[in-house]
Amino acid sequence: MTNLTLLIDKLNTNQTLTKEEWTALISGRSESLAEYLFSLAREKRHHYYGHDVYIRGLIEFTNYCKNDCLYCGIRKSNRNANRYRLSKEEILSCCHAGYNLGFRTFVLQGGEDGYYTNERTCGIIQSIRKDFPDCAITLSIGEKNWESYQKFYEAGANRYLLRHETYNHLHYAKLHPPSLTAQTRQQCLWDLKNIGYQVGTGFMVGSPYQTAEHLAEDMLFIKELNPQMIGIGPFIPHHDTPFAKETSGTLELTLFMLGLLRLMLPKILLPATTALGTIHPQGRELGILAGANVVMPNLSPTDVRKNYMLYDNKLSTGIEAAECRTELEERMKSIGYQVVTARGDSLN
Ligand code: SAM
Repeated sequence: MTNLTLLIDKLNTNQTLTKEEWTALISGRSESLAEYLFSLAREKRHHYYGHDVYIRGLIEFTNYCKNDCLYCGIRKSNRNANRYRLSKEEILSCCHAGYNLGFRTFVLQGGEDGYYTNERTCGIIQSIRKDFPDCAITLSIGEKNWESYQKFYEAGANRYLLRHETYNHLHYAKLHPPSLTAQTRQQCLWDLKNIGYQVGTGFMVGSPYQTAEHLAEDMLFIKELNPQMIGIGPFIPHHDTPFAKETSGTLELTLFMLGLLRLMLPKILLPATTALGTIHPQGRELGILAGANVVMPNLSPTDVRKNYMLYDNKLSTGIEAAECRTELEERMKSIGYQVVTARGDSLN
């Protein structure tokens, strides 16, 4: 038994790792270690969630954004992005289509778009809540103040996804303009948690300048935050950003991190993300086999999907498309899992 296997056993028995141990585990990983990790991660996942795969209908309702994150294709400075925003009626019609396809969670994601004032956003949430009382409403609309988060919660939102992106503030500063800080981002997560949201955080794997130590710090932060959901996916360059020439994060490291997250927080809701599906044709399936238990197909109107281009070649067809639920079901079945129609709340 190697020392690294012992570290995985430690995780598997609910013990905490130090930053040094996390760093050693991540930087010393191997194929055989990964196989061992994935088998334990699957055991944990089966224990808590069986073979169920939860689905979320993702509605990307605006690609306007006031921020200028260096990695993101919808950053403010990208003049080549075709900007769009959806009306309340369009969003509701996505929800109706999604409900009929068996979706019981709607994720409203967008850039930080000032058009959607608190009043407009609350109007949208209230209408969805009224038409779909049995569904969960998840927001992923970036950094807001406590008052806004509180209003959205009172209007009927249940969950909020806000990736911390990277815990380390120096690394954060290399990925973002000076107006955005790691501290504010993290404070938003604590605010959301204190208000009562089911909270999701996460990070990009293989973002420029990322080291194993940074990932170790991410794991420690996530353990402390103890969120209900964690979204991770490989960084993928977008040709109209300052990171156009950077290399993508790898499938291998993303899968390894998924396995580690499942062992560290066994009850977590963990998506096999679109970015994972984009870097490898079987990315979604491999993500599920590494411990993930959620997929988030695209429910946006088909004509706008190509404009929510966060990175090059982002998928929005095939099993990424909500209307292809049957294909998704078949692909999950082929690896021994079943897609379920349920809200899929966290056990955490
Ligand atoms: N504005 C909201 C926010 O800040 O959370 C939600 C939209 S934002 C575009 C959603 C996520 O996309 C980010 O948290 C980031 O991790 C991911 N993302 C953006 N650009 C990416 C890229 N080039 N490669 C991989 N993921 C990317």
